Amino acid sequence: MNHAGKVIEGLMRAELDRYTAANPVSRRLADRAAEAFPGGVPLHWMRDWATPFPLFMAEAKGAELVDADGHRYTDFCLGDTGSMFGHSPEPVVRAVTDQIARGVTAMLPTEDGIAAAEALASRFGLPFWQVTTTATDANRFVLRWARAITGRSRILVFNGCYHGTVDDTFVRLVDGRPVHRPGLLGQVIDLTDHTRVVEFNDVAALEAALAPGDVACVLTEPALTNIGMVLPDEGFHAALRHLTRRHGTLLVIDETHSISTGPGGWTRAHGLEPDFLTLGKPIAGGIPCGVYGFTAAVESRMRHVQAGVPHGHSGMGTTLSANALAMRTLRVMLEEVMTDAAYAGMVALARHLARGLEAAIARHGLAWHVTQIGARVEFHFTPAPYRNGGEAAAAMRPELEQLVNLFLINRGVLIAPFHNMMLTSPATTEEQIARFLHAFDACAAALAGHA
Ligand code: PMP
Repeated sequence: MNHAGKVIEGLMRAELDRYTAANPVSRRLADRAAEAFPGGVPLHWMRDWATPFPLFMAEAKGAELVDADGHRYTDFCLGDTGSMFGHSPEPVVRAVTDQIARGVTAMLPTEDGIAAAEALASRFGLPFWQVTTTATDANRFVLRWARAITGRSRILVFNGCYHGTVDDTFVRLVDGRPVHRPGLLGQVIDLTDHTRVVEFNDVAALEAALAPGDVACVLTEPALTNIGMVLPDEGFHAALRHLTRRHGTLLVIDETHSISTGPGGWTRAHGLEPDFLTLGKPIAGGIPCGVYGFTAAVESRMRHVQAGVPHGHSGMGTTLSANALAMRTLRVMLEEVMTDAAYAGMVALARHLARGLEAAIARHGLAWHVTQIGARVEFHFTPAPYRNGGEAAAAMRPELEQLVNLFLINRGVLIAPFHNMMLTSPATTEEQIARFLHAFDACAAALAGHA
């Protein structure tokens, strides 16, 4: 190991000790949980944090979280987007409290659902909507629709993408060849038979992959946000739309993370024209809910393929989707929380956060860069932005990511446990950002010359 590696390892040891000493209650709960949950957590992603044992949450409100040992954290992870408008916004608390006493789920539609769909239509410019329980489901069902209405079996995704646990998208490029994403368990189908994968921003590869005319849809985020952040080149989206139209391929834009851009996501801010738009995570304030919207042309093709097919098991939908509670909270989020004014504040704070990070990085001579999509900010351990998922994956520094994550936790700040992701919510304050920048500065100082 080189000198820098030894420095990082030494810092990490000190942070692990500090965390262990400071969190005896979480430690006890972790020991108890290990008897009930394989791996000690109810969802294995909860082990992705850099902590030696899970930090147990006691409660959270706005942009603050309190752990089981009573420490208060400024939360920039915000449930990895699920709570990006703050934990338990007041309008959601009121709506949930009221609705829970009036019936949660009956497999019947409610008027709140219509209001929510109308709000989605005017926000995103797509007339028709369907509701799911998660963003994963929204993507899964859109792939099924796209295949059904085009009669084509293949889909195309970009290298480094993530769209939830949609198996079809678990394909990566390794040395230019498509392979299953490492870690995928129990999948017995060769996903590369039906999924093409090319690098983001590679228009020539995209064109070659669409040219055979057998791709039902391209599914992508407007910018890749799950492998660090990869922003589209100037003109990439215009080329993507042009090529998909030319080859009869539908375009699905997944706004689940890029809803940080503004009230109508990246789609509205940059005038994209998707055939389908998918979205989930924060849209019902953390109450499980996903949605997908589509054009009138798609709706007409859906009706066409449904004619003559027996009604019933389409392979889409789950029992609790679009229940009365989810529809009420979705409506309230759209009407009262995800407002233009809320976004203006969040994005201004994120800009402030990004500038502060850049200043600290420069002050300590680190060759890192910062990216921002509206209220979403990340810092990366390379001097220049990535142009595609392959580059981003090659630049990952897990040991450094873990150290920064734990260093910040030990100083009262939560950022996402992957690729240094931070969100500013309507509840986030200037003081909280100052507190974060103070902790980040200490971390950058410790790493100066070694990272
Ligand atoms: N789309 C994108 C872009 C995502 O990042 C994620 C989750 N990180 C999903 C969809 C799936 O969300 P969920 O796990 O809530 O279904």
